[in-house]
Amino acid sequence: MGYNPRAGVKMTVVYPFTAIVGQERMRRALILNAVNPRIGGVLIRGERGTAKSTAARALAALLPEVEVVADCRFDCDPQRTTSLCTECRERLARGEKLPVAMRKTSFIDLPISATEDRVVGTLDIERAIKEGERHFEPGVLAAANRGLLYIDEVNLLDDHVVDLLLDSAALGMNFVEREGISFTHPARYILVGTMNPEEGDLRPQLLDRFALSVEIRGLPDPRDRVSIMERNLEFEAEPDAFRQKWLDRENALSNEIAAARANSTM
Ligand SMILES: [Zn+2]
Repeated sequence: MGYNPRAGVKMTVVYPFTAIVGQERMRRALILNAVNPRIGGVLIRGERGTAKSTAARALAALLPEVEVVADCRFDCDPQRTTSLCTECRERLARGEKLPVAMRKTSFIDLPISATEDRVVGTLDIERAIKEGERHFEPGVLAAANRGLLYIDEVNLLDDHVVDLLLDSAALGMNFVEREGISFTHPARYILVGTMNPEEGDLRPQLLDRFALSVEIRGLPDPRDRVSIMERNLEFEAEPDAFRQKWLDRENALSNEIAAARANSTM
C-alpha cells in the first residue's frame, strides 16, 4: 500500500486564514512559501496553543486550485514539462497527450515516525528482476507534490528525514535510484515545520536549513486576545457561517497568491 493522505480525512470546516489575529511574521512567511515553495520551508516556533497548525491548515484551504495531469499519480504540472514524473515523460515520448484537470491544494500531515523509505518511496527491485518492469511505490513526497507538507514537532523527527525533506523542497524533485533503476517525480511542496522550543530544539544545522524561521508568542495586547476569543467562539458556534463571512477576504488573498505565482519564474 502506498501512502494515502486522503484516507480517513473528515471533511471539516477550516478556520479562515485571514481571520487569524496578529502573527504577521508567521502569515507572511507562509504566504511567501505558498507563492514559491522552492524558497525552502518555514519553521514556526512557539508554545502550545499558538495556532500553529490552524494557520498551516488554513493556508492550504485558501490556496488556489492547481492544474494537474488528470491521471498522473504524482499530480504533475502539465505546464512544467521539464519536471514531469518518469511516467508522464514516457507517455509524452510515445506521443500521448496528457489530460489536464484542476485540483485543490492538499494538506499532508507527516507522521513523526516516518522513515526514509516511507518519505521518498520505494523501487521494487525483485519485481524488476523477475518481471522486467519498473515498479515504484510512491511515498509521502509524492503525496505532498503541489500540496502543503506539515510536520508537527519537527524536532522529534529523525534528522536524516528532515534533511531529505529540506533537500527535496528546495529541489522540487524526488529522485530514487536502486541498482541501476531510477524513478523521478516532482516534489514541489510548501514545507511547514512546527516545534515547541520548550520540548527540545532542532540541531543548529537543521535550524539553519529552513529558509524562514518565525517565533510566535501569545499577543500582549488584551484587545487582540479578546478578538481571538470572540472569533474562536463564533467559529465554534457556526463554522460555515463564520467561513462565509470571511470568504471575500479569503478569495482576495487567494487571487493575490495566484497572481504572484504566475509572476514567479523559479
Ligand atoms: Zn506525472
